[in-house]
Amino acid sequence: MKIFTAIQEIRTHISERKQHGEMIGFVPTMGALHEGHFSLMTQALKENDAVVVSIFVNPLQFGPDEDYEAYPRTLDADLEKAEARGVDIVFAPSAAEMYPEEMQTGVHVHEGTDVLCGKSRPGHFDGVATVVLKLLQIVQPARSYFGQKDAQQAAVLTNMARDFNLSTEIVTGPTVREPDGLALSSRNVNLTSGERREAVWLYEGLKQGALWIEEGSYGPGEILKKAKHTVEANISGTIDYMDILTYPGLKPVKEWNGQVIIAGAVQFSGARLIDNIILSFGQKERV
Ligand code: AMP
Repeated sequence: MKIFTAIQEIRTHISERKQHGEMIGFVPTMGALHEGHFSLMTQALKENDAVVVSIFVNPLQFGPDEDYEAYPRTLDADLEKAEARGVDIVFAPSAAEMYPEEMQTGVHVHEGTDVLCGKSRPGHFDGVATVVLKLLQIVQPARSYFGQKDAQQAAVLTNMARDFNLSTEIVTGPTVREPDGLALSSRNVNLTSGERREAVWLYEGLKQGALWIEEGSYGPGEILKKAKHTVEANISGTIDYMDILTYPGLKPVKEWNGQVIIAGAVQFSGARLIDNIILSFGQKERV
């Protein structure tokens, strides 16, 4: 496995591989790698000739009071695990390499950010879109892989790729969970042991909500009230949001039609966790 920290060096290496006709798959991450990341890498390895994984905790996507400093960083272990999974290339730049000077330009995401994480983390998706655009320019992959766990992020980046005619295909992989249902997240290590036991209730609440959506006997407002109650009754943290929206449009649901997302975020003492379930409807049903 090749490891690069310098933009110019990875660019040269990737362009040599492309000259040999290799299709590049790309999995951007912030490291502290887990099975959620590895499932994207496995899919990328199946669908491409070579896989690039980036490991970069992007300061641009963290708000001033968020967990940029406390975000887990485990580079040595990440490199070992990535190599064991058959990854070809890791790009692990420093913040100074990615942002040698203050950015004079940035991507502004102006659709689909007035809800969910976009609403509670102002500027977050501008930071995500900006770093992903930079990484895509550096790696120039045929396909890029993102997790459904961050469904709003996947929607925002799919829109960006279309809006800017990016030459990469955005591929979304399913959410990988712990045996009890908690979605894997690098932030889970920042839960206390009590919070770890409670954390599964976010998914339990979403699952209940998803069942009621499928049953079709309640509207979104009523379902959210019940699902929030389930979560609130079982966690010491606070609900940041729970919502039911169209997907990937992220608009209020007027009828059970197409894809619908039920998503939630919970703030614990040292970690904010998010999760979601996406449902698909064939025929139109009134809410
Ligand atoms: P992160 O390192 O948290 O920024 O995540 C890097 C990529 O892995 C993103 O596309 C995430 O959506 C994806 N990812 C994170 N957790 C999971 C999970 N539990 N299952 C599937 N994909 C995930």
